[in-house]
Amino acid sequence: MPKLIINNLKKTYPNGTQALKGIDLSFSNGMYGLLGPNGSGKSTLMRTIATLQDADEGTIFMDELDVLKEKAEVRKILGFLPQEFDLYPKATAYELLEHLAILKGLTDKVSRKETLNTLLERTNLISVRNQKLGSFSGGMKQRFGVAQALLNKPKILIVDEPTAGLDPVERVRFLNILSELAVDTIVIISTHIVEDVSELCVNMAIMNEGKVLVESKPDTLIAAMNGKVWKKLVSAEELAQLEAKYKTLYSLMLMGNRVTHIYSETDPGDGFESTEPDLKDVYFYYIKGMNDV
Ligand code: ADP
Repeated sequence: MPKLIINNLKKTYPNGTQALKGIDLSFSNGMYGLLGPNGSGKSTLMRTIATLQDADEGTIFMDELDVLKEKAEVRKILGFLPQEFDLYPKATAYELLEHLAILKGLTDKVSRKETLNTLLERTNLISVRNQKLGSFSGGMKQRFGVAQALLNKPKILIVDEPTAGLDPVERVRFLNILSELAVDTIVIISTHIVEDVSELCVNMAIMNEGKVLVESKPDTLIAAMNGKVWKKLVSAEELAQLEAKYKTLYSLMLMGNRVTHIYSETDPGDGFESTEPDLKDVYFYYIKGMNDV
């Protein structure tokens, strides 16, 4: 099984922003979720793996292949789906995909047709292949993006913030396609949406401020918080008091009150009840640095 290994990757932009402060990560098959708030360095990391920008220090290896040095070789085995991508609105899905296929060297007409039809099937676009891209919904465009990223049968597929702007049905459909691909491809998605990771990622990392806070499996991280997450319905004033007293994970408005989740290794009393942890609790636990104290 191919492996992608990142060691001590660092990047500081010319304006002084330290976007990556020494990243160590490894990836193999199965969908991998890189979760973190905006500005945590996800895009910088994804673009560096995709050979679109350079790092200052560190290494990335895909098995024996030096990703930072042998960019042309890497591009042959890599598919990249950027956050947003412009499509020629007057072309049909089939026409543009065929055009891109020819650019990528799929010159044989018969096998090209077969490849295109397979990709359109896999991304659920076969029935709309003759529609103009200008008429496509956000989800259809994203799926077209996946189809084009798969033209060279990549061993690694990198997808930066894939679900932004997708409605719930499109989101699930899109993530399912990626998850199927991940059976024999390294699929890395970056996202700030916890549910993108909890639903389909086999492995994950949480990033913040250019660092990896934790790398593990979603289920393992959730299980580690069992019995340590407590909830209570409080008013806005009470919330301020609770925040001073407890490790508040997060709170959600519910009919004018706030459902507040806190982290506590022992029963906090005070009207709190135990609740089953989920990945959102895990996310805030790490983002708020509660593992550090
Ligand atoms: P994310 O994808 O998690 O939102 P980014 O990698 O886009 O994070 O950004 C990480 C940090 O680097 C942020 O502080 C961002 O403002 C900064 N940054 C990103 N791109 C540039 C750039 N081209 N020049 C300067 N700073 C940048």
